[in-house]
Amino acid sequence: MRDILLSRRKLLVAAGSGVLGVAVLNTLTACSSDEGAGGNAPTAPPSADLGGWDRVEMSNVAAYLLVRGKEAAVVDLGLANSSKAIEEGLKAADSGWDQVRHIILTHHHPDHAGGLTGLSADAKGTFYAGEGDVASIVTDRTLKPVKDGDEVFGLRIVGTPGHTPGHIAVFDPALGVLVAGDALNTQNGLAGSNPQFTADAKQAAESVRKMAALQVKAILPGHGDPLITNAAEELRKLAATV
Ligand SMILES: [Zn+2]
Repeated sequence: MRDILLSRRKLLVAAGSGVLGVAVLNTLTACSSDEGAGGNAPTAPPSADLGGWDRVEMSNVAAYLLVRGKEAAVVDLGLANSSKAIEEGLKAADSGWDQVRHIILTHHHPDHAGGLTGLSADAKGTFYAGEGDVASIVTDRTLKPVKDGDEVFGLRIVGTPGHTPGHIAVFDPALGVLVAGDALNTQNGLAGSNPQFTADAKQAAESVRKMAALQVKAILPGHGDPLITNAAEELRKLAATV
């Protein structure tokens, strides 16, 4: 089986008093080595896109973008007032808020749904959150509740409760890309929901086993780097231990 390698184009964006790193994953190629082996910022020439998936890296959380043709989806919005960072990510992916049709929130925590606060008025797509989390998200936007098995923009909503009651992951079946929210993290190797912030540990473990049954080729977590090598194997190993 071929491994998937994403190389990253890193952009530095001055934002307010600090500097935000916006890492855009834009390249997918078949390769057996991992990214950044040389230690320097990878500058490998692009080969094929990861079906239009990109990552917006913020202070300690990531949002993900999927640009297909003239339409785009955003998964998670980071902390409050992250609109500009996401806009820069969209720009880097040759898109913009005016092309975003779908904004999917994996769960209600402030580092994922907080970005509804201060969100650009140009963000006019449909907003979605898991039906079990909708009531916990304070916003004047209308949120469309989604549940396991729903489809948005060709993406499958995977109900992954545990971290929060209505946590959802987003699975792109065409590419095997799993945007895991906080149902998985890779901060210290692949792991399930951080126990410190988990509403229901038993549910969270069941959700890991459920995700392990998907045909996963890449895991894009809210916290930690994307897992793009042996993702299915790593996830199955994890599922056997939770
Ligand atoms: Zn989080």
